[in-house]
Amino acid sequence: MDAPVYPLERMTSPEIAEAIRAGCTRVLVPCGAVEQHGPHMALRMDADHAEALAPLIARGLGGAFVAPTIAVGCSSHHLAFSGTISLSEATFTAICREYCTSLVRHGITEIFFYSGHIGNFPVLENALPGLRRAVPGVRVEAFTDSTAWLACWAEAVAAAGGAAASVGGHADIAETSVMLHIKPEAVRPARIEAGRLGLMTRAELEVMWRDGLPAVSPNGILGDARGASAGIGAACLAAIAGLILADFTASA
Ligand SMILES: [Zn+2]
Repeated sequence: MDAPVYPLERMTSPEIAEAIRAGCTRVLVPCGAVEQHGPHMALRMDADHAEALAPLIARGLGGAFVAPTIAVGCSSHHLAFSGTISLSEATFTAICREYCTSLVRHGITEIFFYSGHIGNFPVLENALPGLRRAVPGVRVEAFTDSTAWLACWAEAVAAAGGAAASVGGHADIAETSVMLHIKPEAVRPARIEAGRLGLMTRAELEVMWRDGLPAVSPNGILGDARGASAGIGAACLAAIAGLILADFTASA
């Protein structure tokens, strides 16, 4: 039998208490963003992605609750594009902390944060020591390795027949493919295009953090979305789930 995946907010309180008593004391907290994803994808991409990863990671861990997604993240460098909503680092961190302090009241002993939005990685990394201090005796982890994430995408895209060079990390072939796989209605195929290609220099990255994404990519894409397919998306989803799972398992 598959390990259980418990969608916390869809369950009743007695059902949750029973599952905890039966030994499931682990929670995943998917984090996302509501930010521009080029001319061709809806804003909720990263939150949808994090939610699609949840059952794969939960089963790999031997069962887990899945907390309500923290859908809005830290996206200040995308605010020049219509629709983007961004939380400050302090607000995002406070939400994570209050998830932890709430969950431990119910007997949860392991809390795992991960994000579909790479921009949340440094925030989670900075937040982690404080989260651990907020819930002594509870295991709190966060996946924050953006280099490994991008390498994993490049490898998965190439293995599925796409161009690894099109992976740029934002609204690119990997993200667009993931969305074609999990929520195709969020993609506007006729508007798929190339964005900024190639690795950014340190100076360009500084310009991006200071002036926002339009300074380095006028259409908001990092990488190239052309060539995206549902098949590549399935490969990327499975590969990233495996990467996060390996990290959570290794840090036990
Ligand atoms: Zn994204």
